[in-house]
Amino acid sequence: MPICFDLDGTLGHFSSGFVLLREALGGLWGVAPTVEELGRCGGSTDWEIVDELHRMRFGRGLDEAGYAAYESACIARFREAFAPGAQEAVGYGGVLEAMHRLAATRRVWLVSGNAPGLLAFKAGLLGVDPAIPRLGSLPRHDRADLLKRALRGCPGPHLYVGDRPHDLAAAQAAGLPFLGIGAAVPGDHPSLSEDAEAEHVVATVEAALSGRH
Ligand SMILES: [Mg+2]
Repeated sequence: MPICFDLDGTLGHFSSGFVLLREALGGLWGVAPTVEELGRCGGSTDWEIVDELHRMRFGRGLDEAGYAAYESACIARFREAFAPGAQEAVGYGGVLEAMHRLAATRRVWLVSGNAPGLLAFKAGLLGVDPAIPRLGSLPRHDRADLLKRALRGCPGPHLYVGDRPHDLAAAQAAGLPFLGIGAAVPGDHPSLSEDAEAEHVVATVEAALSGRH
């Protein structure tokens, strides 16, 4: 029964993430994509976003080599920005602790729109146990595809914990219930503050898994 957690906005935040993405692409492409171009992207995963920006800039889709170059450049920017003594990631302590408690007895995954190497770096900054498997953004996969991949071969009940409408939409597309973190994803599903205490998060997850919401 995988319990899948999104990362950004769900377990913590990296306030400058989209600035760093644009800077990384600027280094590769000569000129950084604009905020307006980024705003026109409909996807929520790194593959989808960088593919869309690549089409706007070059008139053709991204390929695997271009995605790998983006991933390397973005990790390098994050390593600089979040070096010791520079910016610090903000972790949501109760949600993080709850995820680790749940992982002691249940199957837990990180399923995030970050490119895999970037997800590994961010998860490390937030102190996520390396034993928790991570599934980052893969070429030609949207977020629902990633969730389906994490669930493959596992009996339910399942749950996706996320913070944005695109997380809710992906959960619905993949056919699994949803728990919202924060105020940015309204709807008829259980929801918690990012400041929720671990006991409360665990109890809410257990209730959602048993259909008691
Ligand atoms: Mg998120």
